[in-house]
Amino acid sequence: MQAVQYREHGGRDVIEYGEHPEPDPDRNEVLVDIKAGSLNHVDIWTRKGMPIIDLAFPHVPGCDGAGVVREVGEDVTRFEPGDHVAVSAGISCGDCEFCRDGEPTMCVDYHLLGEHVPGVHSERAAVPEQGLVPVPDHVDWATAAAAPLVFQTAWRMLLGRGDLQPTESVLVLGASGGVGHAAVQIADYVGAEVYATASTDEKLAYAEEVGADHVINYEAENFASAIREQTGKRGVDMVVDHIGAATWHDSIKSLANGGRVVTCGATTGGRPKTDLDRIFWNQLSVIGSSMGDPGEVDDVLELVWSGDLEPRIRAELPMSETARAHEMIENREGFGKVVTRPDSEL
Ligand SMILES: [Zn+2]
Repeated sequence: MQAVQYREHGGRDVIEYGEHPEPDPDRNEVLVDIKAGSLNHVDIWTRKGMPIIDLAFPHVPGCDGAGVVREVGEDVTRFEPGDHVAVSAGISCGDCEFCRDGEPTMCVDYHLLGEHVPGVHSERAAVPEQGLVPVPDHVDWATAAAAPLVFQTAWRMLLGRGDLQPTESVLVLGASGGVGHAAVQIADYVGAEVYATASTDEKLAYAEEVGADHVINYEAENFASAIREQTGKRGVDMVVDHIGAATWHDSIKSLANGGRVVTCGATTGGRPKTDLDRIFWNQLSVIGSSMGDPGEVDDVLELVWSGDLEPRIRAELPMSETARAHEMIENREGFGKVVTRPDSEL
């Protein structure tokens, strides 16, 4: 079968699309004919290589995907051939202290399909039953492949971890990215006052279209100053930051007293300077969040399947053009998610 793969870490030129051995599903796995995948920032990190992750090469990337069940292992109970499914990439052990406590995303062995182990950007993929969610037949493949990772991440940030209330205000940084555009929609759905930043007026118009009440062009002005101005010096109750080093200081500065900043990633680097004096004096909270638990995934995807929340597709490319998909994400081109399809599906 054909698969996206790379044999070493490196630049975009290490990405190939070509022949790869057929997956051989275990008894707890489902063999899925992949109809579409989508890219996430984690795909960039994984391709470049991270010291804590030791991959087997050739590595097939891809955390997000959707398709049709082809066959199921003997221990699989929730799916049968012909079912439409989407991948929800977080896999937990089910048995550690945190899993038993109902917090699988805090599992000591938590890992992502496509990041720590083979992913799904291929014509077929063997996926643990735990890593699949059912998709109603009316949902198109691009939507099913684009939604799971970013919408569960944003849902848990805002609600499961952040406990955002309808009476509160929230600033979403980088509203044009996958997590950003999901967070804007969820915050708007909750009924909160939504502030959003982006780098161009076109992206800001998109942010308003999906639910932002106030927008700030961070290339044209300092967003923390803009927030102070727009909130009568008060600041916002919550900041959603997936940018990291480049924004952290101003995220802290944008918070109202007692506010919280929720982080799920650090695309510009994970070692920012921070201001402890502001954190203790203003009684701020710094909250980490990662992926979503199965209940959160069910809740948010139900709203995607019903159309209340909607992943925006910035481009659809054949999987053979995955390097171009990485380039679009690295260059912050466009708005929303990049979807790829096996070339044989086009
Ligand atoms: Zn566990």
